[in-house]
Amino acid sequence: MHLNKSCLITLWLACVPFSAHAALPEAQSVPGGIAIIQLENAITHKQKPQAWFDKQPVLIQKELKQWYAVIGLPLSTPPGWHKLNVKLGNKTRMVDFRVRKKKYPEQHITLKDNSKVELSPENETRAVGEIAQIKQLKHQWSEDDNTDLGFVAPAEGPRSGNFGLKRFFNGKPRSPHAGLDIVVPRGTPIHAASAGTVLNVHDYFFNGNTIFIDHGNGLITMYCHMDQMDVKAGDHVEKGQAIGLSGMTGRATGPHLHWSVILNGAMVNPALFIQKEIGKNGAIN
Ligand SMILES: [Zn+2]
Repeated sequence: MHLNKSCLITLWLACVPFSAHAALPEAQSVPGGIAIIQLENAITHKQKPQAWFDKQPVLIQKELKQWYAVIGLPLSTPPGWHKLNVKLGNKTRMVDFRVRKKKYPEQHITLKDNSKVELSPENETRAVGEIAQIKQLKHQWSEDDNTDLGFVAPAEGPRSGNFGLKRFFNGKPRSPHAGLDIVVPRGTPIHAASAGTVLNVHDYFFNGNTIFIDHGNGLITMYCHMDQMDVKAGDHVEKGQAIGLSGMTGRATGPHLHWSVILNGAMVNPALFIQKEIGKNGAIN
């Protein structure tokens, strides 16, 4: 982080970029990233503004006496200028913001079990149905005044598959990697990235045993390939709470956690949200 020498200590908070604010993720206005747009002053405008991007409601967060729109940008977002529709009281306005280009690397994966690449008609029907179900979960919206955007990493381990990789399974192009892979041995406790309500617990064809947690205001996290799931839909979970054990259920080449972060229906880079790591003893460092 670069700080201007003229910044006095008393002004330190005003000089730091968004990424250093505890309550906001790191802004990266690229496909698969997050755009953060400063809206009204929260002292003079106590009423929370509302905003929409691509017709989806957008998360609004108060930070340092200011309202911010925190916008998830789908990997399919074309680079260039985009519009945020903002509503305050009965007044609406458009805010233009720019999405920069980002080139993600390729990842070639060989799966011995070709039945998870070339699907049988039965599996195809199952997978298509599940994709529709997951799409619905991704667009869940529950109003919440206490959404905590300072995430803990759900597990500690080498990151084998970064977000955004253009994937090829057994040579066949497939959808890009819309999450972060953390390599952990089977049976490792997996922790909730932030406080929220369990939205869905299910065994999916590709994702295996999966937990969705709703953190409010369109922010949802998804934990896949679990061996054991210790929560059920409707449960409240605290930040850092163990929710189950890792595994390799579904389409996985080895034991790991696939972790996705969804914001206003868009899968975004989870690394932008991680502010604290879970220690080996389970403590939040
Ligand atoms: Zn993955």
